[in-house]
Amino acid sequence: MKICRFDDNRVGLVEGPAIRDVTAALDCLPAVRYPFPAGDLMISNFEHVLARAREIAGASPLIPIESVKLLSPVANPTKIVAAPVNYQKHLDEVRGDAQIHQNTPGHTITIQKAGLFLKANSSLVGPGEGIALRHLDRRNDHEVEVAMVIGRKANNVSRADALTYVAGYAIGLDITIRGPEDRSFRKSPDTYTVLGPWLITADEIRNPGELNLDISVNGEQRQNSNTRYMILDPAALIELASSFYTLYPGDVIITGTPEGVGPIVPGDRILARVERIGSMEVAVGEAS
Ligand code: MN
Repeated sequence: MKICRFDDNRVGLVEGPAIRDVTAALDCLPAVRYPFPAGDLMISNFEHVLARAREIAGASPLIPIESVKLLSPVANPTKIVAAPVNYQKHLDEVRGDAQIHQNTPGHTITIQKAGLFLKANSSLVGPGEGIALRHLDRRNDHEVEVAMVIGRKANNVSRADALTYVAGYAIGLDITIRGPEDRSFRKSPDTYTVLGPWLITADEIRNPGELNLDISVNGEQRQNSNTRYMILDPAALIELASSFYTLYPGDVIITGTPEGVGPIVPGDRILARVERIGSMEVAVGEAS
């Protein structure tokens, strides 16, 4: 199943090029009061929501996807975990390009030494909201990645069990200002994490470590690879992340980008695709 969020926080079930509004499925969510429980409420109750969505979808008319504004399929992750330099050819290009590595030793070490990093939750948007670039005097880059959304609380999980903790997958864009600062600073402006176009449930992707991914800017292909070239595969990333912090339902892990990163500027149009998940178009603008 493919579940999206759209327009004014509606929830949609994706059927080919159309969606059915199944927002009423959220009626099964428990009423919560402050302080809110950790984790995204919809993903914490995902099985119930999906079952209810299936029941009510038929009564809801088909809406063309291109007529809605797609939001991030996850509203409230407790954290966005990201993998730096997780493809060898990307590490090679970072090491070979001073505009990317900025003569900063921490930018050129391997993921085994660098570990993971966090992006601000406030950076998260959906493809319909677009990217609003900041610091236009500096290089702003696209990075296309496969994103995993955690489905249940995961603490110290083994690599062998790791993928059973995934609720679904999406396309992630890790938009990045190049510079010497810490990754979490340069990659966390508002709109610098794009998640979409929807969440495809984990049962539909048997092996996330075997997916083509690519990105085009204004029709020109920039990145084109396969997740089999990851240095730490999706299960290893969950094992590593959950050895440092508990992962909660709705937490997002973006798994690293392959070679071919490059600049984007206001006015650009991005098309990102991941095999089996789908594709999303994202407009690039400028922050006001
Ligand atoms: Mn990245």
